[in-house]
Amino acid sequence: MEAGDFKDFAKAMTDYITEYLENIRDRQVVPSVKPGYLRPLVPEQAPQQAEPWTAVMADIERVVMSGVTHWHSPRFHAYFPTANSYPAIVADMLSGAIACIGFTWIASPACTELEVVMLDWLGQMLGLPEQFLARSGGEGGGVIQGTASEATLVALLGAKARTIQRVKEQHPDWTDTQILSKLVGYCNKQAHSSVERAGLLGGVKLRTLRPDNKHRLRGDTLKDAIEEDLKNGLIPFYVVATLGTTSSCAFDVLDELGDVCNSHDIWLHVDAAYAGSAFICPEYRYLMKGVEKADSFNFNPHKWMLVNFDCSTMWLKNPRWVVDAFNVDPLYLKHDHQGAAPDYRHWQIPLGRRFRALKLWFVLRLYGIENLQKHIRKQIGLAHYFEEFCNKDDRFEIYEEVTMGLVCFRLKGDNEINEELLRHINGRGKIHLVPSKIDDVYFLRLAICSRFTENSDIDLSWEEIKSCADEVLKGVSK
Ligand code: PLP
Repeated sequence: MEAGDFKDFAKAMTDYITEYLENIRDRQVVPSVKPGYLRPLVPEQAPQQAEPWTAVMADIERVVMSGVTHWHSPRFHAYFPTANSYPAIVADMLSGAIACIGFTWIASPACTELEVVMLDWLGQMLGLPEQFLARSGGEGGGVIQGTASEATLVALLGAKARTIQRVKEQHPDWTDTQILSKLVGYCNKQAHSSVERAGLLGGVKLRTLRPDNKHRLRGDTLKDAIEEDLKNGLIPFYVVATLGTTSSCAFDVLDELGDVCNSHDIWLHVDAAYAGSAFICPEYRYLMKGVEKADSFNFNPHKWMLVNFDCSTMWLKNPRWVVDAFNVDPLYLKHDHQGAAPDYRHWQIPLGRRFRALKLWFVLRLYGIENLQKHIRKQIGLAHYFEEFCNKDDRFEIYEEVTMGLVCFRLKGDNEINEELLRHINGRGKIHLVPSKIDDVYFLRLAICSRFTENSDIDLSWEEIKSCADEVLKGVSK
């Protein structure tokens, strides 16, 4: 493709994207295609000769859009949001053009240095303690991981390295294998499945602990589990505190967990994947009280802070436990400035990394903190707006206190009727929700996902849910 064609193609695509996003609420939120829908729509083999870009453009609706679930439709209320904004899209274009692989500082100094500064900007926006920030001049600093799952695994590996070193100092005759078999980590039973997976990938035991009646992991529960394990000769080494659980957006009591971890020299990692974005608003920071006691903190601007996937920001007080533990240093990756700036390849699992700091920079500058705060507050307001509808209709009940942009609700009655309700809602295809279940109670989750969502969209979603409830309850009373 020549430069002139690129300009035309990119212009046409920009027009298409704008049209797509601005009118997204008119599209059916989940496509009605069946598995295997796409193969018959494209040739069996790649074309031998180059096609014009206009031919590709002409196929986007037919081949791609017919099978897209529109996550940015205000009718999409499933999972948690994934971010989307014009500044981040444009930044990804530039990242695509530079197309560097920023594994070391010299591999593209701007890629590393903008990331260091952006993580400092963002850390200050959240009110993170200075110890986490590179600008403090201490050891701490931040990094952009691809996902929260990677951050949880990286922190676990750091915790493992730190504990193995400590135990070896106390018991020089113990082998790594002996120590590894005794390591045990902890998290809320409601923690994301990626925490359990980090334990499996890291080859260590991970205990899920029972939360209190508000689905929060408490200090006493953790303390009891640790004491029991110590009695049995195990070595507690890692705790994941979840701020905003996936099922119901509950918040572990970080302050209490922090005290327990600190008194036992256990690495405390905070997984605030979704809810962390809300901490840019000072009024929500009470939910991260005790954060100074943590060793690492992670949240996903790619969920709720308008930075397109992937951008999972992680801060470490002592990155050396990760950096030194997995430091392999082949000659072809060495450079003359080693040690003067981070070589981010040591902070993550893969070697390669894109220039992701660009989209953070563009979003922070083109929205400003003020508008990002407005976005969070508006979405939480919309969740409360929906909550009021549920509260006013006595057939419904709220399952979990609404603190963020997620409403957990159900029809009063058994699980079956709620399962039926969701089948009706998703079956009609106007809006899309997913369920969850805690302690055998099945409920529906309505997440405010799209940045385009307005009160009128919530009115429509509520009307749809109410009408499905009418159908379901009519069926029951027949
Ligand atoms: N942690 C929590 C609390 C989550 O809600 C999620 C996803 O929704 C994750 C971790 C996993 O996020 P990622 O896809 O970035 O690994």
